[in-house]
Amino acid sequence: MPVLEPIPRILGEQGPTSGPLLVVLASVHGNEPAGYHAARRVLARLAQDEIPLSGRLLCLVGNRAALAAGVRYRDADLNRLWTPAVVARLRSGGSLAAAPADEEEARELLAILDAQPRTARRTVLDLHTTSGASLPFAVLADSLPNRRLARTLEVPVILGLEEQLDGTLLSVLEADGWITSGCEGGRHEDPASIDHCEAAIWLAMEAAGVLEADVGRVPLEAARARLRAARRGVPRVFEVRYRHAISPADRFLMNPGWASFRTVAANQALGVDRDGPVLAPEQGRLLMPLYQPTGSDGFFLMRPVPRAWLVLAWALRRLGVPRLVPLLPGVRRDPARDDVLLVDRRTARFRALDILHLLGFRRERAEGDLLVVSRRPAELSRTG
Ligand SMILES: [Zn+2]
Repeated sequence: MPVLEPIPRILGEQGPTSGPLLVVLASVHGNEPAGYHAARRVLARLAQDEIPLSGRLLCLVGNRAALAAGVRYRDADLNRLWTPAVVARLRSGGSLAAAPADEEEARELLAILDAQPRTARRTVLDLHTTSGASLPFAVLADSLPNRRLARTLEVPVILGLEEQLDGTLLSVLEADGWITSGCEGGRHEDPASIDHCEAAIWLAMEAAGVLEADVGRVPLEAARARLRAARRGVPRVFEVRYRHAISPADRFLMNPGWASFRTVAANQALGVDRDGPVLAPEQGRLLMPLYQPTGSDGFFLMRPVPRAWLVLAWALRRLGVPRLVPLLPGVRRDPARDDVLLVDRRTARFRALDILHLLGFRRERAEGDLLVVSRRPAELSRTG
């Protein structure tokens, strides 16, 4: 699966520039070539079968230099460096002389993404793979437009993961009004991961409105069947509840043999670090156990979200209930930022974060008894 040919930034571009746009991001991590191969397959099939498009498909390579070298990144993780300060620097065109080499990749990517017309519906699918074995799954911020995209993908959807990760490219795009989803195709080296990523691209094209209706040559049914089979009956929606953050000094090692979606009991030993065994703090299902030398996430734990809870969330947001949250005891607006709420957990004695998630808020951080949450941009534009 290594990539030997020269790697362009723009892998391919097809369809009219008027109408909706789907951007496929492949190999933002250079040790994840599956997305690159999948995008090339889709582009080749579109050309070979002369499939007409009603919108535009634009396939971009994330980290070209790292993909060519077969490494995750050179000196900065291209999916963690998008902090507000760095994004401002990239957009201002300032010098990157002292910046990590990967920021040059970031600048090129952002210039292309920023140049896309703002009028039409813009969707982005960010393709990744994992170091441990896994079913394919989608990762998204819990806004209603994102949910529609994720539902089309036929894979389990993980909510709340993006909230645990700072500086992702999708968080920047979401703030700019893009409909966003990440898709993890499976284990890095597994050839099936390419098939899963390819299926996800076809289905995302459908969800983004890029495919013309009733074109029999589009392999949509095969893509749906492929991802449905891969799901093997696991629930459709999960919420991340715990992240095991690590630093090199922890010398964390995951115990061998774990895979994403495996059931974990509370206090079960999952790995070891310099202090001894690392135990699961609660019962749940495992997500993304770390089996590669670089990374700051040892593993995540998640639980299925009941369907009734999802329906309730949809209904409350449709009704505009999130606008009433500042009226709750212990909740006030941040005087500096309109979209941010400050929640005093001593006063707000309801299950504050669960309820706020339900209403489409994102946890930003906790400071002692103070919980800081923000409205997701897509939710803000929907309900004011
Ligand atoms: Zn990745």
